[in-house]
Amino acid sequence: MTEQNAEGTTRSGVPDRTEVLIVGGGIIGCSVAYHLTRRGVTDVTLIEQGRLTCGTTWHAAGLVSQLKATHSLTRLATYSARLFEELEDETGQATGYRTPGSISVAADGERWEEILRGASMARTCDVETEIIDLDRARELWPLLNTDDLVGALYIPRDGQTSPVDTTIALAKGARARGARIVEGVAVEKLLAERDRIVGVETEQGRIEAETVVLCSGIWTRQLAATIGVNVPLQACEHFYVVTEPIPEVERGLPTLRDPGGYTYVKEETGKLMAGFFEPRAKVWNLSGVPRDFAFGTLPEDWDHIGPVFERAVHRVPALGQCGLQLLFNGPEAFTPDGVYYLGPAPEVDGCFVAAGFNSVGIQSAGGAGWVLADWIADRHPPMDLSAVDIRRAFTFQGEDDYLQERISESLGLLYAMHWPFRQYESARNCRLSPVHDRIRDAGAVFGEVAGWERPNWFARDGQERVYEYSYGKQNWFEASGVECHAVRNAVGLFDKTSFAKFRVEGADAVDVLEGVCANTVDVEEGKAVYTQWCNDRGGIEADLTVTRTGEQEFFVVTAAASGTRDLAWLRRACRERRVTITDATEETAVFGLMGPSSRSLLSRLTRAELDNEAFPFATSQRIDVAGHEVRATRLTYEGELGWELYAPWEHALAVFDAILEAGPNHGLQLAGYHAMNTLRMEAGYRDWGHDITDEDTPLEAGLGFAVAFDKPSFRGREALLRQRELPRTKRLVQFRLEDADRLLYHDEPILRDGALVGRTSSGMWSYVEGRALAMGYLQHPEGVTEEWLDVSDFEIEVATERISATASLRSFYDPAKERIRL
Ligand SMILES: Cc1cc2nc3c(=O)[nH]c(=O)nc-3n(C[C@H](O)[C@H](O)[C@H](O)COP(=O)(O)OP(=O)(O)OC[C@H]3O[C@@H](n4cnc5c(N)ncnc54)[C@H](O)[C@@H]3O)c2cc1C
Repeated sequence: MTEQNAEGTTRSGVPDRTEVLIVGGGIIGCSVAYHLTRRGVTDVTLIEQGRLTCGTTWHAAGLVSQLKATHSLTRLATYSARLFEELEDETGQATGYRTPGSISVAADGERWEEILRGASMARTCDVETEIIDLDRARELWPLLNTDDLVGALYIPRDGQTSPVDTTIALAKGARARGARIVEGVAVEKLLAERDRIVGVETEQGRIEAETVVLCSGIWTRQLAATIGVNVPLQACEHFYVVTEPIPEVERGLPTLRDPGGYTYVKEETGKLMAGFFEPRAKVWNLSGVPRDFAFGTLPEDWDHIGPVFERAVHRVPALGQCGLQLLFNGPEAFTPDGVYYLGPAPEVDGCFVAAGFNSVGIQSAGGAGWVLADWIADRHPPMDLSAVDIRRAFTFQGEDDYLQERISESLGLLYAMHWPFRQYESARNCRLSPVHDRIRDAGAVFGEVAGWERPNWFARDGQERVYEYSYGKQNWFEASGVECHAVRNAVGLFDKTSFAKFRVEGADAVDVLEGVCANTVDVEEGKAVYTQWCNDRGGIEADLTVTRTGEQEFFVVTAAASGTRDLAWLRRACRERRVTITDATEETAVFGLMGPSSRSLLSRLTRAELDNEAFPFATSQRIDVAGHEVRATRLTYEGELGWELYAPWEHALAVFDAILEAGPNHGLQLAGYHAMNTLRMEAGYRDWGHDITDEDTPLEAGLGFAVAFDKPSFRGREALLRQRELPRTKRLVQFRLEDADRLLYHDEPILRDGALVGRTSSGMWSYVEGRALAMGYLQHPEGVTEEWLDVSDFEIEVATERISATASLRSFYDPAKERIRL
């Protein structure tokens, strides 16, 4: 028997088994329990080592803002706001939720553009926003110093809540539908058998569970490691001050955000609370968080917080004229990219993660609980969640040195400018290509993806190798244009070593891959197949190439950022089958030689025949290059004749040097990832995670040509067959913005005849078109067809301004795809 306390939780006694076990009774764990029971999954047990909310939740400021950096994060936050509004009526537990609104201010033109772009994105998520002048800003916030401001955005329905009361309401709702909530019992370790979770070991014995959800806040990394699951997050110190009561402070003030000053300010019972996102944060307890750290606080540190407090005083002078009741410092879990983790751990089946909330856990809790509960109940997420998916994490990110450096940067970036193409400054040089030094010496300016240093652009003679950020054409604009021009007219050389690469071998390799790939990979040796891996709904889980390298051997190549996820997908498909998968990512360098002169250049270095007959498009051969054996695969992401050369690590530099040496006679230019992005956008090639995700099918994405419907079976076939019979009501469309001065990035609203019909999934400048290009899905019940596009007027909204756009189902560059077969 268990003993119940006032909130209906239990203080002792744990069940022997449960269907879903949640570790952690903060707002996230309680929201997951609440939503699981709402979905009808009622055999749910939540285990909390202390008391509910005792981790980070109890001391949160309780801001519930709706507008986030991307569309999917905004959808989750807006769901939370709606839920918190209704929770009290449902559970009878007061939550303290109210909607005083919020005001974000900008003190310079670039910040103003960021805010305006955000306001445009808000339209795609149904978040009401109002651009207000400074008089109105002062009217809403009389203590605001507007002297140096250029504009302000008001979001009338932004909220504030009591984190503790809201958590208790969620727990109450969960318990009313059957969830058990056990307090005062710690989970000591997780239990897994043969890559599957089987339960947990607690201080009071073992609990068997089919599914375990880690909602353990700053403790999650340590706990997950007990079964080899990687959750790279780290506790950081996080500060706010609370003033003495200030008579001039009106009740119900909107939350004030001054991102340029790293500060937010809210009213609380006639006092002001000001919180900070300082540029360099303090990592706390790298080696792990003690189990008994309940309702804990950390020491004040005025030396650290003083400079940002001064900026807060500049924006709200009253903060400097009153007494302070409290400088609060408490730990919160931050992640390397500032976005939380949700979803199934790639390493162990049945283990889910919801952790690392980067100081937005209260406002994200409703949405995170909703989508995670659906994910567990349905075994797939209810929407594209690639941005928050735990399968974007990499093992190296779990290392102490990496976390120490990166996390102190990532906290500050939450309020920093979200510049397009912004690069991290910390924890760099984790993974280097064998030609790293060579390209660095040649002027490469690097960006980081999956820990790899990748050349984004090559500085021209005398140009400083730094980014000068803006929302317009940045300082690499000309340099990248030169690179694109070379690829379109001569030849470009890309270091693509960061590609994730897997060798798949064994007696069942053909069978397994035929089941996973939507395209046929049971092809003759030496064929390179572009394919998607689909889920049962036909949604695209992965977008990659599979080359048959032997009777029972395949080489799988995918984007660097998708490495963990795609490997996990493949491993699951191979379980219990006679297949070995080897991660060859760090054994093999990849160089892309792309452009109409690629053949003439490569033929100077190899004895192999390279003409169309001897080496057709979408084939792969072992050839000699400068005396070294490499695998050459004739594919392109740039939309030109070209080869990807896969060179063994130890010979990579020699091969690269030989290409560089032969290059000048052929107009060779080193080229980077910004150029690649332009080129692929011109050629209409999709980018997984942006233009194609697990909620988009190949038919919707215009990739039906890569689906082998004649195969008797592959995952997703039935769904795709059904969809094939229906009008194409949702379709990826390409756009050209008819204003040569504006750039597109992503999530801009698309309007048809003045009405909102979609949003861009990615955007990039095209040097061929002299305009920005974008992609985005459109929906139309009778089908998104050329004819429908022809009779429509399209606009794309950029920073609240509507700009005419041209739509096309085919790529703007080489729509007939003739150049890749030159
Ligand atoms: C100063 C500050 C201000 C903030 N302001 C805001 C705000 O205004 N808006 C906002 O949205 N967010 C805010 N946050 C962030 C927010 O508080 C967190 O993101 C959120 O509380 C995280 O909730 P959680 O459930 O993930 O973690 P926690 O609340 O820490 O819950 C995790 C729980 O797991 C338990 N646990 C861990 N390990 C075990 C184990 N082995 N066995 C059993 N139990 C275990 C812990 O005891 C803990 O109770 C703020 C944070 C700070 C520090």
